[in-house]
Amino acid sequence: MNNILETNISYLKGVGPKRAELLTKDLGIETFEDLLNYFPFRYVDKSRFYKVKDVVTDSVYYQIKGKVSNLSSVGDKRTKYITATFSDETGSIGLVWFKGLQWIKKKLDSDKEYILFGKPGVFKNKFNFVHPDLEVVSENETQKIIGNRLEGIYSTTEKLKNVGLGSKGISKIVKTLLEKISESIEETLPEYLIKKYNLLSRKEALINIHFPENPDILKRAELRLKFEELLFVQLQILQLKITVQDKIKGHVLEKVGDVFNEFYYNHLPFELTGAQKRVIKEIRKDMKSGKQMNRLLQGDVGSGKTLVALMSMLIAIDNGYQSALMAPTEILATQHFHSIVNLLKDMDVEVGLLTGSTKVSQRKVIHERLQNGKMNIIIGTHALIEDVVKFNNLGLVVIDEQHRFGVAQRAKLWKKGSIPPHVLVMTATPIPRTLAMTLYGNLDVSIIDELPPGRKPVKTLHFYQNKYLAVIGFLRKQIKEGRQVYIVYPLISESETLDLKNLMDGFEELQRHFPLPEYQVSVLHGRMKPEDKEYEMKRFVEGKTDIMVSTTVIEVGVDVPNATVMVIENAERFGLSQLHQLRGRVGRGSGQSYCILMSGNKLSNEGRKRLEIMVSTSDGFKIAEEDLKLRGPGEIQGTKQSGIMNFKIANLAKDGELVSRTRVIAQNILEKDPTLSMPVNIRLKKQLNKLLKDKTNWGRIS
Ligand code: ADP
Ligand code: MG
Repeated sequence: MNNILETNISYLKGVGPKRAELLTKDLGIETFEDLLNYFPFRYVDKSRFYKVKDVVTDSVYYQIKGKVSNLSSVGDKRTKYITATFSDETGSIGLVWFKGLQWIKKKLDSDKEYILFGKPGVFKNKFNFVHPDLEVVSENETQKIIGNRLEGIYSTTEKLKNVGLGSKGISKIVKTLLEKISESIEETLPEYLIKKYNLLSRKEALINIHFPENPDILKRAELRLKFEELLFVQLQILQLKITVQDKIKGHVLEKVGDVFNEFYYNHLPFELTGAQKRVIKEIRKDMKSGKQMNRLLQGDVGSGKTLVALMSMLIAIDNGYQSALMAPTEILATQHFHSIVNLLKDMDVEVGLLTGSTKVSQRKVIHERLQNGKMNIIIGTHALIEDVVKFNNLGLVVIDEQHRFGVAQRAKLWKKGSIPPHVLVMTATPIPRTLAMTLYGNLDVSIIDELPPGRKPVKTLHFYQNKYLAVIGFLRKQIKEGRQVYIVYPLISESETLDLKNLMDGFEELQRHFPLPEYQVSVLHGRMKPEDKEYEMKRFVEGKTDIMVSTTVIEVGVDVPNATVMVIENAERFGLSQLHQLRGRVGRGSGQSYCILMSGNKLSNEGRKRLEIMVSTSDGFKIAEEDLKLRGPGEIQGTKQSGIMNFKIANLAKDGELVSRTRVIAQNILEKDPTLSMPVNIRLKKQLNKLLKDKTNWGRIS
């Protein structure tokens, strides 16, 4: 039955092999079903007609009936264009074309009445229409058009337009398709859900998403399709969670022994926060359960995640297991290494560091000690997941700042033992709840929602560039008080050379304001050799440098409590989560800290909004929500590579409530029928199997 939907798109009337190839290449449309699922991205209301005299603004679309006259070519050969006049009984307005001149001349007929559709432009203080849509009004068509009609607009490409598949062309082949296959559209939701939530049938929804009769039914069609999409995502994720929890064994790490206790009672430099204690308990419970732990640890910058990781690793040691801690960059890995070695300095625990720049001879030793089990904790970057690294008995893997690790990379660690290690993923980029439910739906989540005591919130200020000198004066005062300063410049790959120049110019200017030998200013960027970066970073950590001018290489994790000012240049160019990360570099000690956002005078609305949000809150979760709203989920770090954002119609930023609702519904369904074997759920099972077979395998994300 479904087979017809799997038919290659080239067999659809009006398509053929050449267009089919383009459809596949440009839009990913390969089969009938793909086209059926290629929805308009917006709709224009063609239910209303205007008169020429109604054209008073260039910000809306107008639909007007009238005649075309005075068609003429203007300009010389190179700048040629065509003008015409469009008139009705209320007046006339200019039309302009710069392309397709031959075609327009041939097509337009001054005897016929046309329907013009378009957004006006302004030329020499007068409104005109550039490249308007013109359709001949024919008798029977007048009837059709005058009814309530929303026209779906499909996104397309230049190449497709050239072969007649602009938005209109696509609409036409979708129509042909629907006429051919609408009887083959199968329902995917059980009757009881359709009834309970008053949903359109799948067939009705698909017809109306392409050709809505009116706005109301369009809304219901959208709801039905989003509901379906989100429900199946949640069913997949939750079902996988059930199977993972039930089937995948984990090492039993039940003992809390000497190593943990010695650290806890004799070497812990401060009281754990309540949140840290709670989270450690949650982790302990997982690790002794006999099932593999898959836990996401969310905690704002500076909330003390590293310590939680360390104490979890000590439990592993108490049970005779090794642990690995993976960080996304060498600087971070090195910093973790130093702080952990420092915390464990009076204890008999062997800790190693393995990164891309570990010398071959050292590397050999580390490999050996990991393999024979002498080394208890290994800290490193991607180098840790190379195939040559073999563990004696890896019990726990901690992944810091997880969004930088790809799925495949993490999966590599799995294979290193027959029973997979427990996994603790730490992230300081709080993820909005709705996103977390989808992105990390099969992970358990622990949250550290409390900062260590005595931290003063960072004061955040926004200044325009003309206040630069005042800011310099402020920095001088802070440095006089013995504080250190970060100054960060954006580095965005599109114009990397230019950005780097900005950074170096900024560095030079700062050196003039803060001359040697009184002041030490250093610079750090991604193009430097690792050992040079390391050297500069080390000097800053040791307090030998007053000002560190850098790109976002210092973004994640770097911990220098004496640094109290973070100046972010061109702050409008950074995303919210990045700004939040950067701000998290200060406010780590007991002194009052400041985050100064510098921007140009000209700000886009979105840029301004971001800066306002930063000034108004320091709550990472709130910022993440705002970020999601501003940018949409596709842009949130880590989501692209996961493929999770390939939603056809649902939008995680806007449909948060529906995400939560479908999650609860999915939970209820699976509670009663975990394998979806009950007859009432037969459609769910069938569709789920189909989705799993197709491509979207949500489960492999963690
Ligand atoms: P993050 O969650 O950003 O990784 P860190 O683990 O780097 O945070 O901790 C930030 C700072 O807070 C570190 O200097 C750490 O030593 C300190 N810290 C961690 N836990 C506590 C605590 N319970 N009390 C006081 N300071 C703490
Ligand atoms: Mg950290």
